[in-house]
Amino acid sequence: MQLANHHAHSHFSDGRLSPREYLQEAIAQGLKTYGFSDHAPVPGSAVGLMSLEELERYLAEIDTLKQMYEEDIQVYKSLEVDYIPGVIAMDSPHILESELDYVIGAVHFVDAFADGTPWGFEESVECFERGVTEIFNGSIQAAVERYYALIREMVEDFRPTIVAHLDRIKKWNRGERFFSESSPWYLEAIDKTLVSIAEVGSIMEVNTKGYYKNETAEPYPGRRILIQSKQMGIPVHLASDAHHPENITKGFEFGTSLLLESGYEQISVLSDGEWMPAPLKPSKLHPAPFRK
Ligand SMILES: [Zn+2]
Ligand SMILES: [Zn+2]
Repeated sequence: MQLANHHAHSHFSDGRLSPREYLQEAIAQGLKTYGFSDHAPVPGSAVGLMSLEELERYLAEIDTLKQMYEEDIQVYKSLEVDYIPGVIAMDSPHILESELDYVIGAVHFVDAFADGTPWGFEESVECFERGVTEIFNGSIQAAVERYYALIREMVEDFRPTIVAHLDRIKKWNRGERFFSESSPWYLEAIDKTLVSIAEVGSIMEVNTKGYYKNETAEPYPGRRILIQSKQMGIPVHLASDAHHPENITKGFEFGTSLLLESGYEQISVLSDGEWMPAPLKPSKLHPAPFRK
């Protein structure tokens, strides 16, 4: 079992229960280091999950918990920051002023509907289809390519510490319902995005939420991308994206198996304020079972 999780939510954004309750569970499970990364406020937009006032309370609470639990666990302060061009990025004033220990960069919105509402493709399969139809003239390829182009822009221009759930755009694509994940255009989009990540030196997250929520057969990203990212020397972090304390290490056994199978022997873990390589420990699920 890995002893860290650095992508985690609480009731300050869309998670359940307080940060303290997550830490109590983390300590009970023997974790050594834990980072909170609630969704950052998106000022001036309807899509934010936290207000600027709540952000102040969130930051203060994590600082308090750092002190309170320093004997038991290292606590880190972060935010999952959306990249929406012209609206929010990792260099937005409220992000810089938050003095975070690290930043998770994520693309949850791809362009916008005619009324200006950002297209939150994760919301529902209906919303996914509507975005493809209305914003991209029905071209799934154009929509998916735009998603990866936004990740590259975010990575190249703002260099987040961690790139969240790289292939999240496949959330509704189980059974390849909308596109083939082995089509040349898709592989090219992935390839170009991994080149960007390797160049800037961000850590790529292996996010187990899609797996334990049974959205996808694999974590975000899956096996094919992990084999490629390993060959390109991209460091990875294993994270649960927990929205409830019961999920803080869910899917880690499978994630670990998949990483080992992809050739990874280490993951990056924030320890004593530095990102350090930590050995991946084989679990009883190794080799990883394949689930369709
Ligand atoms: Zn996310
Ligand atoms: Zn998240």
